[in-house]
Amino acid sequence: MPELPEVEEVRRSLEPELLGVPILSVELLRGDFLTPPTAPLKKLVGHAFVRTVRHGKKLFLIADDGQTLLIHLGMSGRVDCVASDSSLAKHTHVRFALASKRDMRLRDPRRFGGAWYYQTFEAARVRELGALGPDALVVTVQHLAHWKQTRGRLKPRLLGQKDVAGLGNIYVDEALWLARLHPLQRVDRIAPERLGALVAAIRTVLEQSIRSGGTTLRDYRNVADQPGEFARQLQAYGRAGLPCLRCGGALRGVQVAGRTTVFCPVCQRRR
Ligand SMILES: [Zn+2]
Repeated sequence: MPELPEVEEVRRSLEPELLGVPILSVELLRGDFLTPPTAPLKKLVGHAFVRTVRHGKKLFLIADDGQTLLIHLGMSGRVDCVASDSSLAKHTHVRFALASKRDMRLRDPRRFGGAWYYQTFEAARVRELGALGPDALVVTVQHLAHWKQTRGRLKPRLLGQKDVAGLGNIYVDEALWLARLHPLQRVDRIAPERLGALVAAIRTVLEQSIRSGGTTLRDYRNVADQPGEFARQLQAYGRAGLPCLRCGGALRGVQVAGRTTVFCPVCQRRR
């Protein structure tokens, strides 16, 4: 499942293909991929996307007149940039033909993703980002200062998207291992220096993954159809029973908030 680093990688690789290049035509091949289904997608013709914004796992493409397309990669969504005369891959739902003789094509075999249309980025922001915390790549200790006055356990809070947007199971386990924090640590009892370590670990893990092209557990490919390499660098996720790369003790696998969770019982003590 694409997580923040994969979406960020898609965003970065889309920009040179997309920004400032006029849209010649838009073709919706599968109506229910778009919300609302009657959105005036064709109004994008003659315009160009001039800005991209990613917040958590949501990717916004913003046109020169403000029209905004939100892309959700879901479980298996793909954004392909290919020559306009290349044959249409299976499960292509939307096709943008660009003046560069290249297409941007939205594909999604398993259909948990989709595209949302908004007249303005402001409308999209209010509707889509209202309930989300700050993006995980820019979250600071100040953003989490209110944890002192709240109840909750660390991993469920990080997965909940309201405190921090964009963290999924893999990156939470990796960040907690790096910051030496127990997944069930009470958030109101995290010492200030540990909170600093958590914020730094989140950024380190995400940036490492972005640099290596995402995690790729199953379906993910970037716009150039390359898989990510980060899976090889995972230090906690998927390693239950194997030695901790820091202390040598056996990593433990448990269920937290219904998700498989791996941590080191020696390095990540509950405080
Ligand atoms: Zn350890």
